[in-house]
Amino acid sequence: MSAAPVRLGIVGIGKIARDQHLPSIAADPAFVLTAAASRANRIDGVPNFTSLEAMIADGPALDAVAICTPPQGRHAIARKALEAGLHVLLEKPPGATVGEVADLAALAEAKGVTLFTTWHSREAAGVAAAKAWLAGRRVTAARIVWKEDVRHWHPGQEWIFSAGGLGIFDPTINALSIVTKILPEALILDAAELAFPANRDAPIAATMAMTYAGQAPVTADLDFLQTGPQTWDIEVETDGGTLVLSLGGAQLTIAGEAIDVGENREYPGLYRRFAELIAAGESDIDTRPFQLAADAFLIGKRKTVDAFEF
Ligand code: NAP
Repeated sequence: MSAAPVRLGIVGIGKIARDQHLPSIAADPAFVLTAAASRANRIDGVPNFTSLEAMIADGPALDAVAICTPPQGRHAIARKALEAGLHVLLEKPPGATVGEVADLAALAEAKGVTLFTTWHSREAAGVAAAKAWLAGRRVTAARIVWKEDVRHWHPGQEWIFSAGGLGIFDPTINALSIVTKILPEALILDAAELAFPANRDAPIAATMAMTYAGQAPVTADLDFLQTGPQTWDIEVETDGGTLVLSLGGAQLTIAGEAIDVGENREYPGLYRRFAELIAAGESDIDTRPFQLAADAFLIGKRKTVDAFEF
């Protein structure tokens, strides 16, 4: 591996790019932020372009891009980046459809570059310890409760409630990403109920009933209208006691005892992994969380609820 840092372009300057990607890139010597592409937004200190195509055609040489646009339209951007021979980091979810990801995986393979479908919540502080403790134990049941206030966390993000924006599955896919990491066997969706606001094309709440390893019931209670305290909890019952991941995976309790899991550093962990993947010439592509969300759209019963405005 060359010791030179990876020359990184960032695509889609919005909330997550500013809140998490830019500080994590700046703090990681394996990367140097080299250019940015966004239709309207700009960042200081690097050349800015209004599209990925313009950034590739007219910008400085790049090795990789991080794509932080909404899921709709991300496939076309990622395809162009891979075709240009760039390594690609995709924000979650990795696209608007599962089929898009398979296409990108094949293209990355053909071009010999890295594709990383990130799941930032898998880097939450308690997740690795939870996975290690669960290994070898028999899981008897699990419950996901993920309830947050969309107006607080996603103010004015109309794309979330457009078709392909996933609605409530935009944040709750984080819970599915943790569960599919800490529980390694098959997790299959049996039933779901999706609540669509009368004026929107994506759900604002959902329930899911799943089965883990062919025997353990796993439920999910998901809501985007929770005001007051927010809830991001996963509880796993086993033959050795109950494990609770709370605060989105940042806190871990096992059999009632709080475990010290250290500081929560999700995005720095993603960039460390991206650097490792590029150095090793590998990709990391996991669609299981996305598949579960997609399956909820496939078999879920739908009900119409009150119209939603931000
Ligand atoms: P956002 O604030 O809306 O930012 C997305 C940016 O992408 C926009 O500012 C926009 O900048 C650009 N963009 C390009 N095409 C667009 C289009 N067709 N519609 C709207 N914007 C478009 O969204 P975000 O919260 O950063 O989320 C982006 C991705 O990160 C999503 O997949 C989301 O799930 C994920 N994510 C978000 C969070 C969070 O807390 N917000 C956390 C983790 C992951 P221009 O107008 O300049 O093009």
